[in-house]
Amino acid sequence: MQALMMNTQLMISSILENAEKNFPEVEMVSVTADNPLHRQSYRRFGERCRQLANCLDSLGAVFGDRIGTLAWNDYRHMELYYAVSGSGMVCHTINPRLFPEQISYIINHAEDKILFVDLLVMPLVEALKQHLTKVEAIVVLTDKEHMPKSSFSNVLCYEELLSSETAHYEWPSFDENTASGMCYTSGTTGNPKGVVYSHRSTIIHALAGALPDVTCASNMETTLPIVPMFHVNAWGAPYAALMVGMKMVLPGPKMADGETLHQLITSENVTFSSGVPTIWLALLDYLEIEKKSVPSLRRVSVGGAACPRVIVERFKENHNCTVVQGWGMTETSPLGTVFNLKKGMEDFSEDEIIDLQCLQGRGVFGIEMIIVDENNQELAWDGVAFGALKVRGPWVAKSYYGLSDIPGSEECPVDDNGWFETGDVASITPEGFLQITDRTKDVIKSGGEWISSIEIENAAVNHADVAEAAVIGRYHPKWTERPLLIIVLQPERSLTREGMLDFLTKSLHKMSVPDDVVFVNELPHTATGKINKLGLRKTFEKYQFPID
Ligand code: ADP
Repeated sequence: MQALMMNTQLMISSILENAEKNFPEVEMVSVTADNPLHRQSYRRFGERCRQLANCLDSLGAVFGDRIGTLAWNDYRHMELYYAVSGSGMVCHTINPRLFPEQISYIINHAEDKILFVDLLVMPLVEALKQHLTKVEAIVVLTDKEHMPKSSFSNVLCYEELLSSETAHYEWPSFDENTASGMCYTSGTTGNPKGVVYSHRSTIIHALAGALPDVTCASNMETTLPIVPMFHVNAWGAPYAALMVGMKMVLPGPKMADGETLHQLITSENVTFSSGVPTIWLALLDYLEIEKKSVPSLRRVSVGGAACPRVIVERFKENHNCTVVQGWGMTETSPLGTVFNLKKGMEDFSEDEIIDLQCLQGRGVFGIEMIIVDENNQELAWDGVAFGALKVRGPWVAKSYYGLSDIPGSEECPVDDNGWFETGDVASITPEGFLQITDRTKDVIKSGGEWISSIEIENAAVNHADVAEAAVIGRYHPKWTERPLLIIVLQPERSLTREGMLDFLTKSLHKMSVPDDVVFVNELPHTATGKINKLGLRKTFEKYQFPID
């Protein structure tokens, strides 16, 4: 029997229409390269999205065309999110921090027809000119006054284009499974791979993300997404915010600038913000050095990499702010798990609650997860057993753009039973809290035992003298592999190898205490700010452990 409900297609444009109708006066505040503080209402935002949709038509873009963006978090990038997807094209966000050859590979692979580029990113695009042979037009995200000189013949000005169009545009309705957006993984092994989101996956993901136990998005809140809009749709914030009419504050190119972030949070009364651990460490340092506070900020979400305990503690103790850790990937849109207490846990001691915040959170409705051993046998959720993490759900990728979609094939990330293989190693507690212990390729196999590099790194950064720590497995004649700890010290500290090992012995299992500690001036990072373990393994290729 068929249901008798309307078959309304889930369209990203409907989120925009909702915001215009129900929250026309709510503000979107942005920092941009050409304006230190821009403000517009959702009403004005809606008008400009329609003008932009008309521009895309005038530029000859048609349904299904990929439109590339190289931009920071601001109102113009938001307009692209809605106008491009809303008119049936694919909003392809590109990370300007990737290596130049990766950027040109991604643009060419996706066959982007038009590129919308932030003023500050134009020099990078100019340098790629000879590789961008298929791009038909480059639109600089600025006004006439700030237009840069360019060697491209097809460069246009965003504000000039918009002002020549009307705000009348009827958003089309089409199959909700149509591609709405694209984001390439950073490709630590091989070429970057294209993840293609749909209107349906994006809307369901944003609905789940807005739930009280997830981000608790609401019209009463003001959000500051510091996580970039060029990477996994800023964790869905651009959609969830307009669904519930949440005021948005967008930091533009200033996302790593403690002073600007502090100013935005205090002057705009930001209550919720999201970002990777490095951003929070930078902000906390700034606040402590300058003796400043952020009284309006109640919750911050952290993800993309394991959240060091010190972040949770410093936010709690110094700013009375709760850290909400989440786990996800480009391929999972990204929400997979998010921290939130279960009933009864509110009576836990402060330390026990912090322990839970340092895990990766609980599964969000819509995401199923399992952990399996080397023989693909499902493991218990007992908080002890750990194995390869697999997930599935309506906002998880089933294949990559242009690569095989046959489950079980080398190019396809999905196994024969339809589970997406995350490449992460994890355990899950009986209460359903996920703990990522490693990447499959980073886990250290010592004498048949698995040792978590993340556990050692977390323990090491808890030492006040340590600024950053990374652990890699290196060959050991007896154990096959043992952990090597590589450390960057805080300025003017003199922690020794022995001091570090003593400290670690107190918190780690004997087996996990590294065999050696090496001090370096800096660690290599990937374009998304994560420690580049591949690079480290290369640097320490010839390293040998001291013989006892
Ligand atoms: P990229 O592929 O560009 O590095 P992703 O955001 O897709 O970017 O990376 C996803 C990976 O980041 C996950 O598979 C996991 O290894 C790691 N990750 C994400 N969130 C967390 C977290 N809270 N704790 C530990 N690792 C995390």
